[in-house]
Parts: sequence; C-alpha cells; structure tokens
Amino acid sequence: MSKVFFSDLHGKKSWLDKTGKLFDRANLKSIIEPGDIVAIKVHFGEPGNTAFLSPLFVRRVVDKVKAAGGKPFLTDANTLYVGARSNAVDHLVAAIENGFSYATVGAPLVIADGVNGKDYVAVNIEGKHVKEAKIGSAVYHADAMIALTHFKGHELTSFGGALKNVGMGLGCRSAKQVMHSDVLPQIDQGICTNCAKCVKWCPEGAITVTKTSSTIDHSKCIGCGECTVTCTFQAIAVNWKTEPGVTQEKIVEHAWAVIKDKPGKVGFFNFVLNVSPDCDCWGWNEAPIVPDVGILASTDPIAIDQASVDLVNKTQGLLGGRLVNFDGGDGDKFKAISGVDWRPQLAYGEEIGLGTRGYELVEVK
Ligand code: SF4
Ligand code: SF4
Repeated sequence: MSKVFFSDLHGKKSWLDKTGKLFDRANLKSIIEPGDIVAIKVHFGEPGNTAFLSPLFVRRVVDKVKAAGGKPFLTDANTLYVGARSNAVDHLVAAIENGFSYATVGAPLVIADGVNGKDYVAVNIEGKHVKEAKIGSAVYHADAMIALTHFKGHELTSFGGALKNVGMGLGCRSAKQVMHSDVLPQIDQGICTNCAKCVKWCPEGAITVTKTSSTIDHSKCIGCGECTVTCTFQAIAVNWKTEPGVTQEKIVEHAWAVIKDKPGKVGFFNFVLNVSPDCDCWGWNEAPIVPDVGILASTDPIAIDQASVDLVNKTQGLLGGRLVNFDGGDGDKFKAISGVDWRPQLAYGEEIGLGTRGYELVEVK
C-alpha cells in the first residue's frame, strides 16, 4: 500500500497553502538534495484552453523546491501534432502567453526535447512493446523530478493522470509517434458533412475531403488523434489496430524510462480541479464533469492515479456537460465519456514495478 496525501477544498484555507502542506506531508523534500537540478513537469496548455493547471500552484511547488535546496526548472516536451507547441520556440511563446514565465513561477522554462524535438536520450528498458524509449534529455539529465498533473479526461487513455503526463508528456516527438501508432481513425460517412476542418489539423496530410466524401490514408496516418477531437460532428471514431490497452502500456513503458534512473527522486501531484472531459492539448475545453475534488500528492504514480480516479467516480457528476453518467456511486465517469477503459495503464504499471494500485488515502487539513 502506498500513501497518497489528499486535501479536499473545504474550509477557509488557501488552496496554495494546501499545496505547500501536501508537499511537506508527502515528504517531497526528501527527494531533493541541496544543489539538485529538479525538473518540474507541467503541461503549459494549448493556447485557447483554460483548463490547464494554474501557474499559481506551480509557483508554490517551485518555492518549496528552492527551500529544500533544489534548482527547479519547468519543463514539457514538444507535441506530435500541429498546434502551438510542436517546437521549442512556439512552445515557449505559448507557455509565456498562458502565464508561465520566470516572473510568475520563479523558475526558468526548458523544453525537454529541444528546439525541434530531437534532443532526447534513448533509454534502454527492454519493455514488452518498447525496447528503447526516447525521453527528453533535459528531464533525463535532471537529478530529480516532480510531476504536476491536471487530472482530467483523455480521448485515448480515458483519463490523463500522472502516468500519462510523464510517459506521453516527456517522450520526444518520435516517441509520441510510437505511442500513438495503434490508433486507427475512421470517418463515418453518414455523419461527416465534408466541412474539411480536420484536413487543416492533420500533421501528415492523411485526410482528403471532397464535396461528397472524406477519407483517411492510413499509410500516412500516424495516429495522433488530432482529427478525432477536431471534428465537432463526432464523425471520426478512434479505432484501434490492436486494443486501447496497448497504447496505455506503451505510455507506461515511457513513464518507466523517465523514472527508473531516479530512484527515490520523483514525486507527483494530481490536481483534481476543473476536470474537463478532454486533454489540455486542445485549443478549447468543455465544462468540467464533476465539481472540483481536491489535490493529491504521493511518490507513487500508480497509487495517485488510482486514488484520483476513485475520487472522481465517487463524486456526484455535473449536469450540463458531456457526462452521461451523473450518479456519485460506482459509475465509471471517464469510461462513460471516452469509451476507453483506463485500468490497463494502472495494472501494467503495477506489473512492471512502477507502483501499486493499493493505497492509503491520508487526509491533510
Ligand atoms: S471535420 Fe468531421 S465533418 Fe468535417 S470533414 Fe472532417 S470528418 Fe467530416
Ligand atoms: S488522420 Fe491520422 S495523422 Fe491525421 S490527424 Fe487523424 S490521427 Fe492524426
């Protein structure tokens, strides 16, 4: 059983102070030695999205890392798809425009896999799916890491938690391609309006739309999933060459590659706030599916994700959003939205020794 420290949002206390207290109670100071370079993994948010983690929380963790003697920097790796974060220049501009700068967070920003996504270290992991995982070199060479995750829904992994943030997030662009390679999108001609919006967003030019038909050339498609979320008519379904669990297992193997050479030097926060149904990679976000739940901290990425999803599923769902399962009982909210079971990532992470699904939830007031 791993300990997961949890602060709910009740009481007249600052959520920032709760974040600092969680850092202390989870003893994250112990993962930092004076002089350590500490990577703080965040998602800077795609411009237009407002659900990503506020820099205010990041600042509080940065201050704690500095107080422990560490030298923090904020980081994320470039995206695979077309957007404002697929190279370091655009990525840094997007981050600054979304409120992340030295002036606001008190730490420099470093894009983990460099200007064009080619600064990586190939980590030998000999996994079931991936033998060498290509990880952004800035994070690989850091002494310690704290992953700050906005916990929300995700179209490919059902929810986006700590594992997804670290595994998919810190893989370089070609690693992301490996992780997406089992996605096989299909257009439903009965729903498609031939509006061609998806064409603009496809990074590989794999979609052809005429006045009467829309097709995807699967020999060009890299499975980034961009088109499935871009289509406002829900005409493109995520199908799988294998099964959704394989993509999740690849993500877990990349998370293992990030973590394995930092024993006792990695911590996690999950912010179960503004739980939007999709990833922060999109330039928009829909209404949250549950009220804000709280903040969690742990040194176990499996336990913190299990605890987070359990808390969401126990919380009464919100009307008016995409959630179709409104009860606060055993309803599996993320699966109801994405159609994807999230359990394979946690089961496989446990199997390869990343952590445990058994946890003790320690309430921090
Ligand atoms: S965005 Fe959707 S509706 Fe428009 S062409 Fe693409 S699949 Fe069809
Ligand atoms: S067709 Fe393939 S490559 Fe193009 S956006 Fe869709 S998933 Fe990505």
